[in-house]
Amino acid sequence: MIAQPARSTDPSRFPDEVDVAIIGGGPAGTSAAALLHKQGWRTVVIESETFPRFVIGESLLARCMDLLDEAGMLEAVKARDYLVKRGALFVRGDERADIDFADQFTKGWTWTWQVPRGDFDVTLANSAVDQGVPLFYNHRVTAMSPGPSPSVTVRTPAGETRTVRARHVIDASGYGRVLPRLLGLDRPSSLVERKSLFAHVRGDRRPVGPLENRIWIVMHPKGAWIWMIPFSDGITSVGFVAEPSFYDHWSGTDEEVFRAALAEDPNTRDRLADMELVFEPKIIRGYSASVSQFWGPGYTLVGNTTEFLDPVFSSGVTLALESANKAAKLTDRQLRGESVDWDAEYTAYMARGVETFRAFVLGWYDGDFPAILFAQRQEPLLRKQITSVLAGYVWDLDNPFVREPERRLKQVARIVRHLGA
Ligand SMILES: Cc1cc2nc3c(=O)[nH]c(=O)nc-3n(C[C@H](O)[C@H](O)[C@H](O)COP(=O)(O)OP(=O)(O)OC[C@H]3O[C@@H](n4cnc5c(N)ncnc54)[C@H](O)[C@@H]3O)c2cc1C
Repeated sequence: MIAQPARSTDPSRFPDEVDVAIIGGGPAGTSAAALLHKQGWRTVVIESETFPRFVIGESLLARCMDLLDEAGMLEAVKARDYLVKRGALFVRGDERADIDFADQFTKGWTWTWQVPRGDFDVTLANSAVDQGVPLFYNHRVTAMSPGPSPSVTVRTPAGETRTVRARHVIDASGYGRVLPRLLGLDRPSSLVERKSLFAHVRGDRRPVGPLENRIWIVMHPKGAWIWMIPFSDGITSVGFVAEPSFYDHWSGTDEEVFRAALAEDPNTRDRLADMELVFEPKIIRGYSASVSQFWGPGYTLVGNTTEFLDPVFSSGVTLALESANKAAKLTDRQLRGESVDWDAEYTAYMARGVETFRAFVLGWYDGDFPAILFAQRQEPLLRKQITSVLAGYVWDLDNPFVREPERRLKQVARIVRHLGA
């Protein structure tokens, strides 16, 4: 894959006034901007980094395809030739549970991509710029004044302070959590703190055939899970997620711990016996976060700025794109003078998807979900319903795992255990 430069707007064209100011140029920010621009609104994307920049979150869900398409970005992503992803393989010792997006309850996309995020995010940002969205790199939002006529304060690369007046502000600053910090909206996550140790590697002996495209989610015997995400250029992303004490089983540098822990699981040991690291393993911890409210006077939070649960089902980018899509449509209506019930139409809508994933995440860690997943006898309809959740179709109320996720998971896990399946 040939690296592509990021396209941006001439800094001299930085605006004083727009309809919608968007903080952050990740998937949530650029897709919201593209949708609003299409409706004729004056937008600006303010991004603190220069792209490409590294960010974790490389395995997409099928639902992303609908959302990229609506944002006018699907063709640009197709042109990057990322590895097509058709599902996920869960691995526990000798056991395998394959989730194939083609075999779903909800009608929708049956495939998506595994994406190196540096390149993917540039692709989306370039697509937004090509559609006409003004986008400024290396511009950091430092303050925001909420209310009916909000404004954001920005530090430019030249060290100047600029203010942009807007009719609405969308915070898509992801791990930057700009408005939650500035406005005191941050709340601790209800989930246990976990730590991730990860790297990109070469020399992965991938399975040949239909399972090559899968993300592997491997349950490590000492209590972590490991992702293995193959890219089209032969590099594989490999990462652990565990409670911090898991890593105390080994001593040494992060690389030594990474290698030793991989060597203790037969599945990762076999695939990665000859691996070379592309970069030193990185650590991210305490990433689960929540907020007291998803919107307020003059602003909406989207993507990771709202709530981030856990990476096990690769839901992050999907929820980022979905919230951006919803927030852009509601902002459009509000700017046209229609009344918008943000609690009902935005917070409650997003909560439906988030709560479905939350129930699955809790079920993953308390053992209910693996019990269902690895059960010998599989009810085909039930399997399809679970596959649709794992493909990101978490707003289909015909699916009992969406309607009552926690109750349904507990009920099925009880039956599976009772049958000893
Ligand atoms: C260990 C781990 C593994 C994960 N794996 C997956 C996965 O496989 N699949 C998946 O879908 N998700 C995964 N995720 C989640 C994923 O990383 C996020 O959900 C996703 O990146 C959210 O996108 P976003 O657009 O909301 O924010 P981001 O992608 O974080 O973009 C936010 C942007 O805002 C900019 N910004 C920050 N502060 C400011 C400021 N003050 N001014 C201007 N700009 C600012 C940042 O530079 C950044 O470019 C994983 C997360 C973790 C922790």
